[in-house]
Amino acid sequence: MSLSTLGTKSFRVGRSRTGLGLFATREIKKGARITRYRGPLLDHDTAVRVESRGNRYLFEISDDWTIDGKARSNVARYANHSCNPNAEAYYYGRGVYIRALRRIKPGEEITYHYGMDYLRNVIGIANCRCGRCVRRKARMRRERAAKLKRATARAAKRRRRS
Ligand SMILES: [Zn+2]
Repeated sequence: MSLSTLGTKSFRVGRSRTGLGLFATREIKKGARITRYRGPLLDHDTAVRVESRGNRYLFEISDDWTIDGKARSNVARYANHSCNPNAEAYYYGRGVYIRALRRIKPGEEITYHYGMDYLRNVIGIANCRCGRCVRRKARMRRERAAKLKRATARAAKRRRRS
């Protein structure tokens, strides 16, 4: 199956910073349902077992039930995490859906927050490569470099004076 056939009307699967991601193909209105997180329901024990085997596409809907979203036909699995997302996952009946938190422009990557547990334990806060974290880390690097430059300039001045 080619990547382009995986999409529906409002999005497609494409290359993102961290592998594959979901990208809007047309404007998506704030609050619009984008897709459903599809897959078989697993009971608690089965979910724990498949998670220990490395399944990263489990979506816990209650203490008892978890959706196994690892099938490639579940296009929602391609939506990446962001600390500043433009979409969110929500429950409706026994389903999990993804909807826009704000207006999403064509070409924009569709992201949602995976939750603090996932961010801490699976991604690792320091390893997050979402747009916000990448920009924050770049700013910290620039600030460190500027600070070093100022310190070096001060040291040079002191040397000239002495
Ligand atoms: Zn982040």
